[in-house]
Amino acid sequence: MFDIQGTLVSLDLVERFFCCDLERCLGACCIEGDAGAPIDEEEYRRLKEIVPKVWDYLLPRAQEEIKEHGVAYVDEEGALVTNIIDGKNCVFSCYEPGGLCSCAIEKAYRAGKVDWRKPISCYLYPVRVKQFDGWASVNYHRWKICKSAEVAGRQRGIRLYEFLREPLIARFGQAWYDELVANCKLYIEQYLSD
Ligand code: SF4
Repeated sequence: MFDIQGTLVSLDLVERFFCCDLERCLGACCIEGDAGAPIDEEEYRRLKEIVPKVWDYLLPRAQEEIKEHGVAYVDEEGALVTNIIDGKNCVFSCYEPGGLCSCAIEKAYRAGKVDWRKPISCYLYPVRVKQFDGWASVNYHRWKICKSAEVAGRQRGIRLYEFLREPLIARFGQAWYDELVANCKLYIEQYLSD
């Protein structure tokens, strides 16, 4: 583990290679799993506000679900998460030609309709952040649906901490990320170089 300004960061971020290969995984992380994406209270408020702007991108079933039960719920572990349909799809997921699953919020962001990309837990995936009293941990959620990303990352020489540069800066700030990079480079030099 690295200790970056009081945040414990898994060595997986430097040891694992990763680069999403959407043509192969088809955006499975918006679908697979038995709960929605973790969000905080502020993100919950923003999601409710954003619904009218992304409405036309949503699946008909998701529109019904949002009308009936809203955009989020509290899961079995007591965490606030985005609502899901059919026991798996996030209500904000949508499909592109070819079956690629994407995020309706990000689609609206790219089209200039909203000024928010998506909840930070989605932006950071496959990294998960856990908050504890006064400190946090950053871990790689290793899952078979991302196997193609590990292959593509290795082929292209992109490590997880490099692939997630933008979301990690969005979550923790530039100074935090710069310190992480310095630690990763030192670690590669000491332990991962031939
Ligand atoms: S995080 Fe995993 S499932 Fe999601 S787009 Fe990347 S490789 Fe695909």
